[in-house]
Amino acid sequence: MINKAVHTGLAMAAALGAMAPGAALAQQAAPHATPASAGIAQPHLVKALEIAAGESNWKHTALLTCYPEQAYTAQEVIRDPGAARVFDNFYYLGNGVVGSWAVDTPEGIILIDTMNDQAEADRYILAGMKKLGLDPKRIRIILVSHGHGDHYGGAKYLQDTYGAKVYMPKVDYDMAALRTGDKARPQPRLDVDIKDGDTVSLGGTALKVFITPGHTKGSVSLLIPVQDKGRATTIAYFGGITNRRISPEMHAGYEAWTERFLSLIANEHVEGYIGNHPSYDDTAGRIAYRRLFPKEANPFVSGTPETLRFVRVLQECNRNNTEIEKQVAGLAEPTRGTHD
Ligand SMILES: [Zn+2]
Repeated sequence: MINKAVHTGLAMAAALGAMAPGAALAQQAAPHATPASAGIAQPHLVKALEIAAGESNWKHTALLTCYPEQAYTAQEVIRDPGAARVFDNFYYLGNGVVGSWAVDTPEGIILIDTMNDQAEADRYILAGMKKLGLDPKRIRIILVSHGHGDHYGGAKYLQDTYGAKVYMPKVDYDMAALRTGDKARPQPRLDVDIKDGDTVSLGGTALKVFITPGHTKGSVSLLIPVQDKGRATTIAYFGGITNRRISPEMHAGYEAWTERFLSLIANEHVEGYIGNHPSYDDTAGRIAYRRLFPKEANPFVSGTPETLRFVRVLQECNRNNTEIEKQVAGLAEPTRGTHD
């Protein structure tokens, strides 16, 4: 039986289990229930917490996918990390909410995601490139992680201005096309329909492309070769991390790609993880650490075991969300939009 008690505005600590919703909270009028308040058992959440226990730098970030109601709050409290050089050939250009990354090569730049609109592209991507000494005229390829506006919003502007080619899966491009009524996020031209198994190459750097459905049908994840003070390694980029209120088929897709990445990470000695929203992988905190301690080991080189645990937490949270959604169809939408 579903407990009708609902509560609002719980802090992250409360959501993480430090405080159960009590009688007083139950009296409050609130817009939506949570699994805890609805009395739903969450064995996969327990597993995710076990996997995360003892990790110091990301347990509250990957675990966010287990607490979708808190995800927007987390995005809003994380300060902008500022543009930063993260590896010899790899740069962060996003803000505290949505990411944009640049891979630098001798023949130009691959830009991954373009933020919400022209204004954000100017304020963060182009200003960040200028600050870091990257010439935006060298952007050759724009890779879009999926068809939500906070990732392709600035794409047409950058494509028109610099003649860069837009790469994304057509299935998600067609989804973006549905939103052409949004003048702030005009549809770019699709130059290359990328597919699972493709490589996107420029100047001797080859990014491996994986279609990782769940967040959307055509969410793109990548293996990116990077150099850390001259040492070559590989990091994984996840382009569709959240999985709230999606269809059972999409949850199954998410299960499949997380399983696949557990093998990939082990087999290809992947040593780090990032994504298209900094709040899910502590990009902001790691950039701050790198600035404070430039001589210490690069916090973006997490090692293969930690990278595997990161994906295992994502996987358990997806399983948890799948179970919750099976049991309760009525958990309400968050108060903000659902693009992330
Ligand atoms: Zn999205």
